[in-house]
Amino acid sequence: MLSVRPRTLPPVMTLLAYAGPSDPSALGARTGGVPLVPAGFDWPVCAHCHGNMQFIAQLPLDALDPSGDLVSIFMCANDPGLCDEWDPIAGGNRAFLLRKGELLPATVPAEGETDLGSSSRVELLPSDVTSYAEAYDTWTDSTGRDQNELLGCLGGEPAWIQDEEIPSCTGCAQQMEFIAQLEPGHDDRTAANYGDAGSAYAFACRPCGGASFLWQCH
Ligand SMILES: [Zn+2]
Ligand SMILES: [Zn+2]
Repeated sequence: MLSVRPRTLPPVMTLLAYAGPSDPSALGARTGGVPLVPAGFDWPVCAHCHGNMQFIAQLPLDALDPSGDLVSIFMCANDPGLCDEWDPIAGGNRAFLLRKGELLPATVPAEGETDLGSSSRVELLPSDVTSYAEAYDTWTDSTGRDQNELLGCLGGEPAWIQDEEIPSCTGCAQQMEFIAQLEPGHDDRTAANYGDAGSAYAFACRPCGGASFLWQCH
């Protein structure tokens, strides 16, 4: 069973759960909508098809530490399966580590598949289970909710679908810090495309200010 730790201790893992529609430009954790970005931000473009990427999610990292950072994730959805979208370095996706204090809603480009189709609020649920695989298995039993409404986790130990795959930072060559695992979404019509029953994984290197993203599927 999942249980809630006292709020005075940092959680070993924070589960992410669907919490209904979101204001499309809200600051909190959400999927879809309009990304919050710093001044001068260039909307990411796919290295393969050169189309504008799709905004997937933004995750404030307060649950991991009080840094005030936020990870923002984009992926190409213009030619599904043809742009190496799953690869952390091939240019079919982008992740950014941003400072929360400086962010404003982005200007969304008119061209390309830029929008997931809905904006969903993500609820942060502190857990004392370290293993996401274990938490995932007990989610339905402990909450009575649909498994698709469990959207992933912040921190803890990811549940790899294939072999463990932790990117190295392009700045310092050190192994990156695991930030989050993300499930496609609560509704197939507005889910991110992580292949067949896939999961996505986000990483950061805080000293270098970089972030990385990849996904695996069956
Ligand atoms: Zn592309
Ligand atoms: Zn680094």
